[in-house]
Formats: sequence, structure tokens, C-alpha cells
Amino acid sequence: MKHFNSVSIAVAFWFMTTMAASAADLGTIATARGTITSSELSQHVQALASDAFEGREGGTRGGRASGAYLLDAIRRLEYISEATQGDLTQEFGNGYRNILVLLPGSDPEASKEVIVVGGHYDHVGYGTWQNSQGPIGYIHNGADDNASGVAALLEVLEAFDSMKAAPRRTVLFAFWDAEEKGLLGSKHWLNYPTISVDRVQFTINSDMLGRLRNEELILNGVRTAAGLRELCSRQNATTGLNLKFDWDLIPDSDHYPFLERRVPLIMLHTGKHYDYHRPSDDADKVNMEGLETVSRFLFQLVFETAQRPELPAFRAASRQENEAARENLLRPLAQPAPRLGISWDSELSKQGIIQVGNVVTGSAADQGGIQTGDRILSMGRVPAEKIADLRTLVLVLENPVPVQVQRDGNPDPIDLELNLPGNPIRVGVSWRTDDVEPNCVILNRVIKNSPADVGGLQLGDRIYEVSGNAVTSSEKFMSLISDLPSPLQFVVERKGRIDNVDVDLSAAVRND
Ligand SMILES: [Zn+2]
Repeated sequence: MKHFNSVSIAVAFWFMTTMAASAADLGTIATARGTITSSELSQHVQALASDAFEGREGGTRGGRASGAYLLDAIRRLEYISEATQGDLTQEFGNGYRNILVLLPGSDPEASKEVIVVGGHYDHVGYGTWQNSQGPIGYIHNGADDNASGVAALLEVLEAFDSMKAAPRRTVLFAFWDAEEKGLLGSKHWLNYPTISVDRVQFTINSDMLGRLRNEELILNGVRTAAGLRELCSRQNATTGLNLKFDWDLIPDSDHYPFLERRVPLIMLHTGKHYDYHRPSDDADKVNMEGLETVSRFLFQLVFETAQRPELPAFRAASRQENEAARENLLRPLAQPAPRLGISWDSELSKQGIIQVGNVVTGSAADQGGIQTGDRILSMGRVPAEKIADLRTLVLVLENPVPVQVQRDGNPDPIDLELNLPGNPIRVGVSWRTDDVEPNCVILNRVIKNSPADVGGLQLGDRIYEVSGNAVTSSEKFMSLISDLPSPLQFVVERKGRIDNVDVDLSAAVRND
């Protein structure tokens, strides 16, 4: 039986220890990450995707030769070769073989837990009608699928080799064979495991990392345990990728057999393309710089999951969730009705001239006595020339709102009083929380022209902190944004990148 923590306990502990590595380790980690280079990745991809390996079909001459290339590359790593336990190869089926590098963990307790870091090294050889998008009979080099992922794995291994010390947990680096024949390598290992499957607490699968476009790396499996989105985003600090969190989980690669065994997982890929399963999936089309960035991110991810004090438990519900469910949650709440009820020339207002266009019948402006053609001198005691954006100002004002206008060129100002509908807003956001993403709130509405909107907060932003205070709950967030002085400094995760966004609560008023 797999050991399960209660989610709340695991999450609370996890929150207190978001960075597993001590400050002293960080230099070593950076050095190790730096050993992952586009030139070495390029060498591996070019070798594995060369015609000499004939498309690396499992069980064929080319498939066996590509396995020999991997074994040779692994044996050249001095520390890893010494530290590895057990056989490097697992033969099965029709001449297939998995290549397995078991790096025992350094912590007596944590080393009982295992992270499986995998990627398949086989491809489809000369192609068949079943596995090729054609033309068949030519060598399908599989540079992206999956020489790229295998090269990344080799470079991550080399990064660990350079550290000359194992992380706390045990890591199994697995180069799966015969994935293209139906995930045979990973399935075989799970049926005939070389270490107990009960020890496997997490798996990371890399399949097709070579076509990074717009810096976008796609991650599946982020809902298989609580807190994985934050974990991935924090490990992206030095790589700055746009992480696309995809909720679909389909049996399209070697992570899936692990999902069926209730193992939390992350699957990395850079997306499909025209050359997918065609002879034209060649090394010269691989984005080697992009592969370097992705491989460095992979290293961070492996290191962190192998090192951190606690790993979260598997969430069975992740198997029922999908992209449609995710898109449902993205639907924003409706914008509130306008509070004032006039139109004006927004360009003129930037010059300090607010001239009323239309007045909506029955609106607060109408009821307060504002007329078309009125020139507003001040609103809420803010002089017109200091109103940077009337729309923002209107959202934040408290009733009753004093207004001074000039009418028909008459120099004597007229004093009016308005009662705006609805409550004034301080920031201008609504939010929801999600147990799968603890320690943040998720914005589901940013009111147009509100201080939040003007400051740059966006729908779907995850807020981790407000002015240095952690967002531990919905209530906590409410009290932070209600009580703290302006400007509010938000730590925000968007597309897996963590940034600061300052929100000036007096954004409606020009500060000059
Ligand atoms: Zn494939």
C-alpha cells in the first residue's frame, strides 16, 4: 500500500519550506545547472537522430545501437557510475531494453522515497502505416521525439554528476524503450520493478522538448497533487519560461502507467508540429537554445522534488479533470454596472478638462443634476486637472460625492452631490481559492479601470503575497488588501512566472 499523508498537514508543512535548498547549496545548484549547455545537448540530439541509428525502433539494430550510445554516455560520468546501484539495463520483450540509472538518496529516511525521471529513447524506425504520418520506408530520425528529451535527461544526469553528492531522495533515471509500441518500457518496469513501486512518490516524464516556441513549455499533471503549480513556478525562477499548465491526462507517453499506479507526476513537452512522426523530424529543426532552457528547468524540478522535506499526496480527482474544466474556471465574473452614468472625452480629461457628453437617464449623474455640456471642475474634492482617469476615480469614491461643475460658460461654479450605486472598491478584484493551489488566491475578476487593472493585475493571476505578507487564505487576503497602505505590493504568478505588481490605490488621482 502506498503511504498517504493527509493533504492539509502535508500542505501546511510544505508551505513553511518552499525552498528546500539551503543558501549554501544555491551556488552548487547554479554551477550544476550551468553544466547543461546547448552545445552538449546538440551533440546528443545529433548523434541519436543520425541515420546511423535508423530511427531507433525498439528491438532493431538501430534501437540497440542507440541504447549502447546511452550506456557509453552514462559510463563516462564518474560520480554517477560509482554511485549507481543495480543493473543499468532491463531486457524485455522482443529485444527491447530499458536503461536505468538508480542514484540512491543521501538521507537515511528520505532515500526510501524514489523520484522516477524518465523519457523514451526509441522512435518508429522506418515508419509503418500505424505509427507514421508518412512517407514510410524512410528513416524517421525522431530528433524531437524523443532524442530531445533523452538529451535533456543525459545533461541532467551530468549536472548531478558535477555535484558529486546525491539529493536526499533516491532518483531513478529511466530511459524507456518501446514507448512507440505502446508505452511498453514503462509498463514493463511497473510490472517487473527493479525497486518497489510503493517507494515511488513522484515521476517526471520528458517527451518532445525540442520545439520551444514563444518560450512556452507545456506541463501536464499539475493537478495530480496539491501545490505542484507553485512548485513548478518557483523552480522556473532562473529559466523564465512561460509555463502552460494543461489539465488533460491521456495515455500518450510514459507518465500514464504511473498515473494508473497513483503516482503524482509532471509531464514536460513543447508541443506537436508538422514533422511529428515524419521522416523530417530532424536535428536541425530542434531549438537547441530552447532545449537548454527546458533542460535546466527539468534539472531544477528533479532537484527540488528529490530534496524538499515533503512531497504532496496523489489526487485521484485529477483523473476526472481536463482542459474543459480548466476553461470553465477561467470564465470571468461579470463587470459591475457603471456607477456614474455619463460619457466624456477621455483624451480631454487627460488634459484636465472633463466635459460631459451624454447623461444616462436615471443614473446617479442624472439624479444628482449633472447635465450634458457641464464641465466638471472637481469630483470627490479631486480637482479636474488632477483626475488621471475619471472611470477609476468613480469606482473608488465614497458617498456622498461632492461635485463642482461649470455650466453654460457661467464662471460661478455649481455645487452638486451624487450618490453612486454599489460599494466603492479599494482594489478592484474578486478571487477564488482552490485546495489544489494552497497559499494563494486566484483572481476571477479585475474590474476595468480599477486600481488593480491600472496597476496591471490580470484575470487568472495567482497572488502569493501582499506587501510582504503571505496569502494563507481567502480571509487573510481580504484583510491584507483592506488594511495595508498604498501602494500594495503583490507577488503574482502568471504563466509560471513570479513577478511583482504594485497597485497604487490612488491611481485615479494624478500624483504630480
Ligand atoms: Zn512519438
